[in-house]
Amino acid sequence: MSKIVVKFGGSNLKSKNDLGKILNVIEQYKQQVIIVVSAFYGITDFLASRINQCLEERFDVNEIINDLRKKNEKIILENFEDIYLIRKTINQVDEVIVELEKFFLGIHYIKEIPEFLEDQILSSGEKISSIILHSLLESKGIRSELIFPEELPLITDGEFRNATVDFKASEKKVREKLSGSHTYVIPGFYGVSPSGKITLLGRGGSDYSAASIAKCVQADFLDIWKDVDGFMTGDPKLVENPVRLDKITYTEAAELAYFGAKILHPRTVEPLMEAHIPIRLFNINGILDNTQPVSYVNSEEVVMDGVVKSVTYSDEFCIIKLRGPGVGIKPGILAKVTGGLGKEKINISSVITSQIAINILLHNKDRSRALSVIKNIELPAVNEIITLDDISLIAVVGQGMLDNHGVAARIFSAIARQKINIKISSSGASQGVSYLVVDRENRTLAVREIHNEFFSN
Ligand code: ASP
Ligand code: MG
Repeated sequence: MSKIVVKFGGSNLKSKNDLGKILNVIEQYKQQVIIVVSAFYGITDFLASRINQCLEERFDVNEIINDLRKKNEKIILENFEDIYLIRKTINQVDEVIVELEKFFLGIHYIKEIPEFLEDQILSSGEKISSIILHSLLESKGIRSELIFPEELPLITDGEFRNATVDFKASEKKVREKLSGSHTYVIPGFYGVSPSGKITLLGRGGSDYSAASIAKCVQADFLDIWKDVDGFMTGDPKLVENPVRLDKITYTEAAELAYFGAKILHPRTVEPLMEAHIPIRLFNINGILDNTQPVSYVNSEEVVMDGVVKSVTYSDEFCIIKLRGPGVGIKPGILAKVTGGLGKEKINISSVITSQIAINILLHNKDRSRALSVIKNIELPAVNEIITLDDISLIAVVGQGMLDNHGVAARIFSAIARQKINIKISSSGASQGVSYLVVDRENRTLAVREIHNEFFSN
């Protein structure tokens, strides 16, 4: 039987009428749907900040728990009429909250947070939202079943905070578990390790959960509902007259997500590419028509005039630069550095080398850990390690860029027009992206100018 996996994110779970909108959407589907939900907006951040409070002395577990109870009861009271269902749902949510209370007390007493517990706490937001959505569907007479990832089970490689789904271990069981013809509701954001521990799929990982489930059940589509207009030629907050992209390829979507576009989690396309399952993006605030996606992602290449499809940016990167005469040609340096960072599970986003410098691009959040790892590696050829902070990475994405040499020239001359200095640039890592690094203070102007260059008409 054909199925569609439908994902609702935190941005669809923000204000009073949002559950009503979601209900509307679900009622429109004519095919069977498997629903994957994120936590209510801000809840994961809330839980993360309360973990820190418990670790530091600023701790009042009662306050945290009351806060959570109040938030959820408000949502339930706003959306349910039947008193019996209200009670039942509040009780069900309370089971999760009572468990959280024990965890928070535990970490307060031991003044430490074991990795497995952090993942378990942070996964609670999704458990709660899925319980509430499931009850709401029942209240409207939509037969549905609530299933947690541990019951599927969606097995991962066991890495806490940032796990990868193990399809060999998951696929068959998940498909069997979801073989009914009714609606399913599943919390996103996590799977379980081979030994059954909750492992998060990275921040914003519900998209990746949904994609993984779509692959397991061989869904016809992965539908992702947002509160914005899908992929655009540029960030509407930054550029003039950005245009919506009706169609983009998996690779383009992945590059855009990887380099900062907040539309999709960067790993979403991974499970879908091989299985050829298209992603359809919908705007819940647009025309509520689930036959008309705002952006459609699959493997079909659509080459635009000028090749470039979108320009995106991220302020979340920094560069660690290793300098020394000949570092670029001495064998073994890079291996030592990447090996050391790999051991610490620090992800390197890109490496660019020259004769006298190795530039390692990584996320700001890993900066200090990476620096201390690198400083502890014996690197005789390196005589200086510096970091470039307050930078922005600008990525220009479009399939076929490498075959069109004029494209790079246009990007560079756009930047040159504004007399902006490019600190580093790279293209060729994939067919579909060129990126450059500029000082943060020049980012907006640079993005605007590149966008103008390619899309002003
Ligand atoms: N709630 C999780 C987060 O905020 C996962 C998600 O929203 O996709 O990171
Ligand atoms: Mg998200």
